[in-house]
Amino acid sequence: MGAQPYYGPDFGQLQRQDPDIAQVLLDELSRVRDGLQLIASENLTSPAVMAALGSTLTNKYAEGYPGRRYYGGCEVVDRAERMAIDRARRLFGAEHANVQPHSGASANLAAYAALLQPGDTMLAMELSHGGHLTHGSRVNFSGKWFDVVSYGVRRGSEQIDYDEVRDLALRHQPKVIVCGATAYPRLIDFAVFRGISDEVGAWLLADVAHTIGLMAGGAIPSAVPYADVVTFTTHKALRGPRGGGILCTAELAARIDRAVYPFVQAGPLMNVVAAKAVAFGEARRPEFGEYTRRVVANARALCDTLAAEGMRPVSGGTETHLMLIDLRELGVSGAEAERRCAAAGITLNRNVIPYDPEPAAVTSGMRVGTPCVTTQGMGPQELKEVGTLVVRAVRDPGAAPEVRERVSALLTTFQAYDPAAFPAYDSKY
Ligand SMILES: *Cc1c(COP(=O)(O)O)cnc(C)c1O
Repeated sequence: MGAQPYYGPDFGQLQRQDPDIAQVLLDELSRVRDGLQLIASENLTSPAVMAALGSTLTNKYAEGYPGRRYYGGCEVVDRAERMAIDRARRLFGAEHANVQPHSGASANLAAYAALLQPGDTMLAMELSHGGHLTHGSRVNFSGKWFDVVSYGVRRGSEQIDYDEVRDLALRHQPKVIVCGATAYPRLIDFAVFRGISDEVGAWLLADVAHTIGLMAGGAIPSAVPYADVVTFTTHKALRGPRGGGILCTAELAARIDRAVYPFVQAGPLMNVVAAKAVAFGEARRPEFGEYTRRVVANARALCDTLAAEGMRPVSGGTETHLMLIDLRELGVSGAEAERRCAAAGITLNRNVIPYDPEPAAVTSGMRVGTPCVTTQGMGPQELKEVGTLVVRAVRDPGAAPEVRERVSALLTTFQAYDPAAFPAYDSKY
């Protein structure tokens, strides 16, 4: 790399000073490179995003917003945040963007704080039907501080029951209606949610933590034209740094900004804000649009293969980057499937399915997603092979060594963090 104009990641320095932690970094990189990553909420960020994360911007206190900070010396980091905001607004066609939330959960906390008082009623999707912890679970602040009414999916179709949503909204008159999910393989009809929200005078909050990346690339319809507030994460299909964000109408801009800072957070993570700007910049390129369409096509190919082999997809299929598989016909629990796959070099997670008779620690299902393998360059043809391997691993624990070998063969061509493209993290460095 030669002389660096900034004090960036220097892996050699870390190895000399703290070999124990350096080894953790190397081992994690090996784990990612040596296995199939099928966790639907994960992705592999670019070296450029990593460079912004590992920069001196991590040192800067910048409470407040660009041009309105409570610390001196913010004129440089202001440029990063202005670029992040500007790029997010243009990428998503939003009137206002806040790029400071530390995570998706922080973004939801701030969005609720902007729109609700403790004790107010909100309507959101049931966790066990695909909703998120922050949508009113009793073990989360959302369930403790608000009066939460939950809607779910229909038993037969396993898709959102919009009639139930409307009935519950009319009956309970929520101040906020939340749509968006963490384990729902179907498109969400934001126009219908908008109609219901208007009918009862509720704010519509779309938590598209999982799908914002697909929306950015144009692979699925966007929630932005319909929702008053859109919360999201930057690290899932969007492929940016771990973090959150909020988009909203001009009307709510000041309320959202005050809710993020000073209500929920103090100092923003300026290195992460800069890395978000890099990711938004990457997502505006045509290649990213192609990537997101391929993520969805790959999910369909994988889902079709699993279904053909007797693994029933909840709701009958997928329209996004993920699928939920009902394992009951195979007589294998979600926890056991997760273990068998891990033994075969395949990382995925157990997941409750709607009306699951098993508890969350066991479950009858698993969740599978394609953002990582698509980043690695795989296409529908490879995803058929991935499907075959998943089925082999889940059905027969004895097949683990053979599956592992076939996983390795696949990864020889489609390696995560190819050393040639990412020398700073390679052990030879
Ligand atoms: C992932 C997710 C979140 C939380 O994001 P974190 O960054 O883990 O806090 C919130 N809502 C939904 C729907 C999610 O899928």
